[in-house]
Amino acid sequence: MSKIIVLMGAPGAGKGTQARLIHERLGLPQISTGDILRALREAEEIHTTQAEGRLVSDDVVIGVVRDRTARDDCRNGYILDGFPRTLTQAKMLEDLALEQEGHHVHSRDVPVDVLVKRIIGRRTCPVCGEIYNIYFKPPKTDEVCDQHPGVKLKIRPDDSEEKIRVRFQTYETETVPLTDYYQESNRLHRVDGEQQTERIYREIEPIVANGAHGAA
Ligand SMILES: [Zn+2]
Repeated sequence: MSKIIVLMGAPGAGKGTQARLIHERLGLPQISTGDILRALREAEEIHTTQAEGRLVSDDVVIGVVRDRTARDDCRNGYILDGFPRTLTQAKMLEDLALEQEGHHVHSRDVPVDVLVKRIIGRRTCPVCGEIYNIYFKPPKTDEVCDQHPGVKLKIRPDDSEEKIRVRFQTYETETVPLTDYYQESNRLHRVDGEQQTERIYREIEPIVANGAHGAA
């Protein structure tokens, strides 16, 4: 059956890392609306809005999700990372899910100070996409990918401290209400996001694998 996994959590909670593990181990495609939107840089308006830490309009994002999930590799389901972020988007996803099947949500609770370090410490290899963190998962050599000696790690432009503050405010007002929304329909699974990556994954995997039997 087809499953739609929605990974929720504050900025920096580790949604991208878990989405990548689920993709690698369970084979579901990882759909990061942030990555897709970043790739659509020619649409200058999208870029400007994102760079300011605000949310892109619901219509634009649902369009991106609709197009991407229409592809063949999404037939058995997919993982959404960074969507939905508002109640309106969640309802748009319901419509989409009616044609597809299943709808499961993970929420991860992590203290804010940890989250900020997770974001400002984040570094990515421009070659392989591996994600490091100078506080929690440093590369063997400062600022250099373990697999790609000589390749300097990159900081995402929207990971600066003042932009993070805006993202947290946006998260509180727009995204936190989604937790209630999914809770009410018994589709919310909570995972302690402060554990190590592998432990978090071990909690998530059975939920994703047997997602059909409802909320934990
Ligand atoms: Zn690399």
